[in-house]
Amino acid sequence: MNSLVLHLGSNLENPLKQILLAHWLIEEEIGKIQDYSLYYKTKAWGNEDQNDFINSAVRINTKLDPQEVLKKIQKIELEMGRMRLTKWGPRIIDLDIIFFNSLILNSSNLNIPHKLIQDRKFVLIPLMDIVPEFVHPILNKTTKELLASCKDTLEVIKL
Ligand code: AMP
Repeated sequence: MNSLVLHLGSNLENPLKQILLAHWLIEEEIGKIQDYSLYYKTKAWGNEDQNDFINSAVRINTKLDPQEVLKKIQKIELEMGRMRLTKWGPRIIDLDIIFFNSLILNSSNLNIPHKLIQDRKFVLIPLMDIVPEFVHPILNKTTKELLASCKDTLEVIKL
């Protein structure tokens, strides 16, 4: 069984509902969720006109391989995207693969660990709830250490 960490984000009007729906689809498509982070509110990067994002992270046991997981998260994003209210509206759901065991993978369509973990508090803070002592296989630092040295100033507020 593989240990997979996914990060979730949504800034639709009822983003928490979207995140909960995504949890359900993740369990249908990918595997049983073992650990859930709390939910956090973050200002949208760059564009002030957008709604705030809700972010969270989950740890899942899965039999799938990384490319199969990527296909599944894209399927879930697409399925949930069909419920979009307006064509250019806010993002209904964004799913990213953060860690897959201690695998390092750099292919044309997939980077594991995810490249931006160490730069974004809205990723690191949810990870602190579920994998605080996990050692990033490239940077050789725990989540806790990565957060301590992260320079991101964007506020991340517990819901
Ligand atoms: P985004 O729109 O930010 O969700 O980016 C999606 C694109 O990033 C997809 O085309 C993926 O192939 C690529 N990608 C690379 N690494 C990852 C990862 N660790 N998790 C999810 N998508 C990834």
